[in-house]
Amino acid sequence: MKVHNFSAGPSILPTQVMQQAAAAVKELDGSGLSLIEISHRSQAFIDIMEEACALALELTGLENKGYKAIFLQGGASQQFLMVAYNLLEKKAGYVNTGTWSNKAIKEAKLFGEVSELASSKEANFNYIPKGYSIPEDINYLHLTTNNTIFGTQLKEIPSTSVPLVADMSSDIFSREFDYSKFDLFYAGAQKNMGPAGTTLVIIKEDLFGKVSRAIPSMLNYQTHADAGSMFNTPPVFAVYTSMLTMRWVKAQGGLESLGEKNMLKATLLYGEIDRNSKFKGFAATEDRSEMNATFNLVDPADGEAFDGLCKAAGISGLKGHRSVGGYRASMYNALSIESVEILVDCMQTLEKKY
Ligand SMILES: *Cc1c(COP(=O)(O)O)cnc(C)c1O
Repeated sequence: MKVHNFSAGPSILPTQVMQQAAAAVKELDGSGLSLIEISHRSQAFIDIMEEACALALELTGLENKGYKAIFLQGGASQQFLMVAYNLLEKKAGYVNTGTWSNKAIKEAKLFGEVSELASSKEANFNYIPKGYSIPEDINYLHLTTNNTIFGTQLKEIPSTSVPLVADMSSDIFSREFDYSKFDLFYAGAQKNMGPAGTTLVIIKEDLFGKVSRAIPSMLNYQTHADAGSMFNTPPVFAVYTSMLTMRWVKAQGGLESLGEKNMLKATLLYGEIDRNSKFKGFAATEDRSEMNATFNLVDPADGEAFDGLCKAAGISGLKGHRSVGGYRASMYNALSIESVEILVDCMQTLEKKY
């Protein structure tokens, strides 16, 4: 039976990418060697890393605009501290839109003053705060563009003259977007790009050397940018697979075309959540994420029946995060609209039969 993978992360990747990645583990491009047993200093791997960095800049429209793309380890969670280590001289502003921004705030406080400019905590993060004022004297403003757990997504980037930093782990490459609004953004690979193990960071070169403190080499963006992400052994499998996904994104027509598909999927599902008397959405309508839809049953007693219907239809990974409960349907780039249709069918069957 076909499984419909709605997991929030690690999550679905294009079938073709999976097949190519699996083949490369056996043998990389007729070389007689596996991807995971060649030197990262070999020409074959240097080409892979260079292509991955170039594709990341190309897809985000940032080629020749003074940005560097680098692939690091430590997950998006390590970026919570690296951002502050490298950029926070005195004070930074953070918008608290949920678990991940909260963790970023906690790390930043180790390096300087952190001003929480806005928060939606009082409503269990079911909306994106807007209209807050942004001080001029902060080193940067940190945003989370998509809140994977709560299912909210930033639709408009606040306008400010201070550098903007964004955690884009769960919506990178998901829509057409003016990425040049950001001075630095990062994304753990395992949501919309590849397997866990690498994090893409795209950084404006004029952010290097911004703080007076000494930064350990491994935690310094400049080290990795100067070394072409090869300062130490990179996570070769994660970078290669991410590179394959970026090739796939480009072949699908790029972000514009994927953005349209993602919008169709989200419109279909939210339409059913709103129509169906058995369900209610969690996030504020105007802030709903196109990547992660969070919803609950009106009557929790229907849980067993709905879970049974989903299981029988091959739906996997739909359980909501414990801080929201209910359900979360993650609809990353590789999830087909057919999978969303199957989920909608299950929702309609529940309404009809129970
Ligand atoms: C998953 C996620 C993280 C954490 O990523 P790790 O790679 O596990 O550290 C951070 N931010 C967002 C928005 C996420 O979705």
